[in-house]
Amino acid sequence: MPITRDYYEILGVSRDADEDTIKKNYRKLALKYHPDRNPGDKEAEEKFKEAAEAYEVLRDSEKRRIYDLYGHEGLRGTGFTGFGGFEDIFSSFGDIFGDFFGLGGRRSRKTRARKGNDLRYDLELTLEEAYKGKEEEIVFDKWESCDICGGTGVRPGSKPQICPHCHGEGEISRSHGFFQIRTTCSTCNGTGQVIVDPCSKCKGKGKVNVEKKVLVKVPPGVDNGVQLRIKGEGEAGENGGPPGDLFVVVYVKDHEFFVRDGDNLKCQVPISFLQAALGAEISIPTLDNNKEKSITIPEGAQPGEIIRLKGLGMTSLRKGRGVGDLFVQLIVNIPTKMSKQQRELLMQFRELEEKKTREKNKNFWGKIKGI
Ligand SMILES: [Zn+2]
Ligand SMILES: [Zn+2]
Repeated sequence: MPITRDYYEILGVSRDADEDTIKKNYRKLALKYHPDRNPGDKEAEEKFKEAAEAYEVLRDSEKRRIYDLYGHEGLRGTGFTGFGGFEDIFSSFGDIFGDFFGLGGRRSRKTRARKGNDLRYDLELTLEEAYKGKEEEIVFDKWESCDICGGTGVRPGSKPQICPHCHGEGEISRSHGFFQIRTTCSTCNGTGQVIVDPCSKCKGKGKVNVEKKVLVKVPPGVDNGVQLRIKGEGEAGENGGPPGDLFVVVYVKDHEFFVRDGDNLKCQVPISFLQAALGAEISIPTLDNNKEKSITIPEGAQPGEIIRLKGLGMTSLRKGRGVGDLFVQLIVNIPTKMSKQQRELLMQFRELEEKKTREKNKNFWGKIKGI
């Protein structure tokens, strides 16, 4: 369900709030609407999720930048989907509640499902690839749930035993004056169970390291630093928890001719002073398969003049915003070596110019005298 309220408003911070303020306000809201404090309260639940989504975006400078520029739509364009549920939120921000609710934000349950780790893959693209978009098969190693034991780590046919240390509680309680101090059982790491007959494939880990291939669809117009989230392609979860996500972080290499500026492209094209003076038809490269594009230099073009070519920029990641433009800046070259004949022709040209100026001045003074 998409949330459309403004993230800054949700967290009650100004648009230029710093990280600390954002974290502080989120923490306040998260504690207020925490499901352990508001059992069964649907409204609190929604508020809790809403605040987590807002925090997830505003604490991340790249997501925040995209949100500031393009809003919710822009984030969806990068594959951002917010959180699936409480477990997602606790596994991401559990540490924020640390000192209030104990480890992980909620008292550890003995076989609490835990979301798998997210993975990050850095993908380098040329500007041409970013322009057209790309399908790239990426290959990486990751931990997947073991198919022999179904992720339990126990040899099929046998069962895990109750932990002899904590008697299946997953925690050890100790009295300390008035207080009861609970710590996670170190024998079973809080699961309450120990494996005496481990699975032969995963050696009791419940996970195996496998080589994974994923086809990543990079949308046209993708920019440096954009993160593509591929849901469920991260590492396997624990105790039946969902897998993490794969984040493909895009790097776009510099281009020898084009420079990107938002959705627009810029380039500089050298022309001769004659092309500038007389106008010309020239060819420039494009990002589309190195196809050439012919452009018209108007008569009397000036050095530094910019020609705007509509629709030849990058596709906007924000839906409905179309395609940017290409700005071609003209660099006018003055000849440094000329033949004798060329020089003579230019001197003739100068004489004509001087004659024109003299006549203009004569007319001007004539008019002044007439007055
Ligand atoms: Zn196994
Ligand atoms: Zn134990």
